[in-house]
Amino acid sequence: MRVIVQYIPPETSMDPSGSFSKGSGEIGVELLCVVKAVLKKIKRRVLVGDKVLVGSIDWVDRRGAIENVFQRKTEILDPPVANVDHLLVLFSMDQPKIEPFSLTRFLVEAESTGIPLTLALNKSELVSQEEIKAWKSRLRSWAYEPIFCSVDSKRGLDTLQFIMREQTSVIVGPSGVGKSSLINALRGNKHVLGAVEERNWFDPILGSKWFEEQRVGEVSVRSGRGKHTTRHVSLLPLPDGGYLADTPGFNQPSLIKVTKNSLAHHFPEIRKMLKDSAPAKCAFNNCLHLGEPGCLIKGDWERCSYYLQLLDEIKIREEFQ
Ligand code: GDP
Repeated sequence: MRVIVQYIPPETSMDPSGSFSKGSGEIGVELLCVVKAVLKKIKRRVLVGDKVLVGSIDWVDRRGAIENVFQRKTEILDPPVANVDHLLVLFSMDQPKIEPFSLTRFLVEAESTGIPLTLALNKSELVSQEEIKAWKSRLRSWAYEPIFCSVDSKRGLDTLQFIMREQTSVIVGPSGVGKSSLINALRGNKHVLGAVEERNWFDPILGSKWFEEQRVGEVSVRSGRGKHTTRHVSLLPLPDGGYLADTPGFNQPSLIKVTKNSLAHHFPEIRKMLKDSAPAKCAFNNCLHLGEPGCLIKGDWERCSYYLQLLDEIKIREEFQ
């Protein structure tokens, strides 16, 4: 495997004159890198978004070798991206309408990654203010503050851009809600590049799609393995800083990381109810909130039936594992 690694300088590496006397002297150089055999041996995969150590740099041919992968803050598998800071869960107000159980599955999957999330509802120009108000108060009872947006009318796009600045984000949600349209609307054309210096600390950010495809084509011809067919993901620079994955994530939430004991933690309204009752606690540490003696969670919350449905699904999966 070869990957394109893009240098992102620490702020302090900037020469006050604005020029860079070391390294190749070029701003935002991208290097085509092989992954050293030692990493393959220990099965350290390089993901988009990883921070890596690059050695054996040939500045003229823009090649190098990835020698190490630094510890990841976060990792998601669909799409495979490391160090994601933010998930944008996107649904639409209409075409398709919000299906509350499906929304719950996406939210639980997103919560289970431990990555901060924002809930946004697209196509808001298609519905009335009353409908927006009703969903707002309904989702507040789920402990979410949704952002109502519309790619078509540009409503809310500034807010989303503001939230995503300086972060690496992935948009997740079912098909047809406008994820690709939103990615295109948010990305802008500016390719923000860093500067080069002789420290070999790099962030591998796959470059623009065009650049990536050029390089990948070149590699597959040389390696004789034919055309690269694996699913690609690139991080696109956002105009206000930060990166957005060009491929949306978990179209079908598998909830594979959710266990019967962790499920309740992925419902923020349960977390809130428990917090509000502190210092009182459920009598059992592993309380599943199914009416056990001394349980503080009563069954009078809207998503209780979804919680029970998901709990059944997870219990069955765990029994067969
Ligand atoms: P994805 O499957 O989630 O990536 O959705 P797409 O981006 O492919 O959009 C699905 C359809 O919704 C397309 O026909 C878009 O033009 C349309 N669409 C996207 N955003 C909006 C919006 O804000 N309002 C309306 N009315 N349609 C939109």
